[in-house]
Amino acid sequence: MEPNFCYQVPVVIGAGISGATIAMLDPSVVVYDKGRSSGGRVSSKSGNDTSSYDFGATMFRDFMEVSWLGQETKYSILEILKSQSVSLPIKPIYSEAHFYPALGMANLVSAMFGSVKPIQSHTLKKIESLDEKTWNLEFHNSATKQKDTICTHSVILTLPIPQILEIFHRSKENPQLKQWIDFLNQYNDYRKTIVSYFYWDKWKPNWKKLSLNPDAKIPITTTLQPGTDWEYQSWESLKYPQEFHSGSALLVQFGALFSESHFEDWMDEKKNPTPKYKDYLIQSLKEILNAPKPNLIWNHRWKYAQAQMPLLGREGTLNLDSEAFEKWKQLCRDTGITILGDWLFGAKIERIIGGVYFLSHNDLL
Ligand SMILES: Cc1cc2nc3c(=O)[nH]c(=O)nc-3n(C[C@H](O)[C@H](O)[C@H](O)COP(=O)(O)OP(=O)(O)OC[C@H]3O[C@@H](n4cnc5c(N)ncnc54)[C@H](O)[C@@H]3O)c2cc1C
Repeated sequence: MEPNFCYQVPVVIGAGISGATIAMLDPSVVVYDKGRSSGGRVSSKSGNDTSSYDFGATMFRDFMEVSWLGQETKYSILEILKSQSVSLPIKPIYSEAHFYPALGMANLVSAMFGSVKPIQSHTLKKIESLDEKTWNLEFHNSATKQKDTICTHSVILTLPIPQILEIFHRSKENPQLKQWIDFLNQYNDYRKTIVSYFYWDKWKPNWKKLSLNPDAKIPITTTLQPGTDWEYQSWESLKYPQEFHSGSALLVQFGALFSESHFEDWMDEKKNPTPKYKDYLIQSLKEILNAPKPNLIWNHRWKYAQAQMPLLGREGTLNLDSEAFEKWKQLCRDTGITILGDWLFGAKIERIIGGVYFLSHNDLL
């Protein structure tokens, strides 16, 4: 593995919200991502034949808390963004504490990247130590179909654990990677989520019947019924109304059990539902919403949608006074590889932004 180039700055892998937060706080970093665009699980679709919609995260909470050395600190995500001169139009949704960007969730990530332009279409394949302090990273460039190898003294990985383990197992055996593999295994638990987007050009539901109030000061545009098949429904046409006159659009995130059992054959390569699911979806829309056949159905699936057993907990205060967090810090220090993301902070945007902000401001990153 011969590097073509050696960076003197940290190299971040992953241009999702974790990578964007790191880049916002330290614009000198270099960011690589395998996708064609940034965002990861904070993804929006816009333009072409449909309207805008979010098919990953749909909103974020403003506040989060961290407890460290016995002291609790509360952070506002909007204040953090302001303090870093990140400006984007944001609207309230659902409650006084929840927000979404008026131009789509992906706009949050791109605004946070600011002047940092992630290097897209680069999939990290292997990581190998060159000497005690240097890591070689080998990428597959899907645009040129070639290998690119670089080196750095500091690597920050923000991918879901299964994707990290795949890279580590493909790489030459190394005691430092082995330490990380042993540590990460205990947090390697993710739920799958399949989603469908429905678009009608000339039909709207009866909002009152759905107990939704699009005209309220803080619009209620979502319904959540935990554990059910059609678990989470987000009316994207209410979030992005400028593109709708007589029609509507709905994004459904299906429940964990349903997602697990229908994951494999959920869609074809063009993201169309397979015929079996097309019939099921149209029939269910009729039963659940009394809706006509939509003009468009688009399916997607998230294999590693949300970490289930994050080191710092799924909800509530991030508690940094734990043995597990000490071990995490030590591994980062000893290996020159920092690994973070929703498996560390919990699968919530505010926990990731606030968590990375806290670590960075306390020299823990
Ligand atoms: C359907 C769904 C709904 C959600 N709803 C909400 C919500 O409403 N509110 C909320 O707060 N949170 C929500 N979440 C959770 C939230 O989206 C995630 O916790 C968060 O986006 C994770 O960000 P990340 O940057 O850590 O990881 P990711 O977004 O997964 O970013 C990792 C990046 O790494 C890249 N990558 C992967 N492998 C490689 C490789 N080998 N080489 C290079 N790059 C690679 C990927 O392309 C990706 O861009 C939701 C998640 C899902 C899936």
